[in-house]
Amino acid sequence: MVSNDSKSTLLLATRNSHKADEFRLFLASDSLQILDLSAFPNAPMVDETASSLKGNATLKALSAQAHTGLWSLSDDTGLFIDALHGQPGVHSARFAGKSADSKANRSLVLDLMANTSNREAKFMTILALALSDEIHYFEGHLMGRIARSPMSTQGFGYESIFIPDGFNISLAELSKQDKNQISHRGKSAVLLKQFIDQLLKQ
Ligand code: IMP
Repeated sequence: MVSNDSKSTLLLATRNSHKADEFRLFLASDSLQILDLSAFPNAPMVDETASSLKGNATLKALSAQAHTGLWSLSDDTGLFIDALHGQPGVHSARFAGKSADSKANRSLVLDLMANTSNREAKFMTILALALSDEIHYFEGHLMGRIARSPMSTQGFGYESIFIPDGFNISLAELSKQDKNQISHRGKSAVLLKQFIDQLLKQ
């Protein structure tokens, strides 16, 4: 049930259940009810038309806040690959085409890098938290390298082809807890949690 007390309800402005599950773990607190967009089937779909992660995170957070009046959190994440001049970057979700799925996106990355020895890459997350009259941003990144071929059938997005620095297995093969400790989303969420804890005390 949706609480009327917008002060203690946070809406995750996402339809991606992987992201929502991660945020529920990061932000769990007795004083915070956490919803996601599945509770608001009529919430508008947002076209990610901005040219930066921050711009797209802003569009998604403001749209959810305007529709619900709740504190609304959005995440925009991209994979930035050195040898591809920062691609897929802000286009990570639709790198292989408008209706491409994650498998097609991963395959395109591997094809483009078939003859490339520089495998360095990073995940970058920008979180946007829209309150009723202000917006706050939190950032996190994870350095690593692109595998030569998928290393797992698990994980979402680009996880099975991304090997975090300090590891020799892909992000998809780490436990959820280990991923959350090191990940772009985990690092940005630590900063967000500190901020929300302060808000809840006010
Ligand atoms: P968006 O933030 O939903 O636009 O995600 C951009 C793209 O990055 C999508 O293809 C996601 O599947 C992928 N992605 C987002 N977060 C992660 C992650 O934590 N690991 C791997 N891929 C991710």
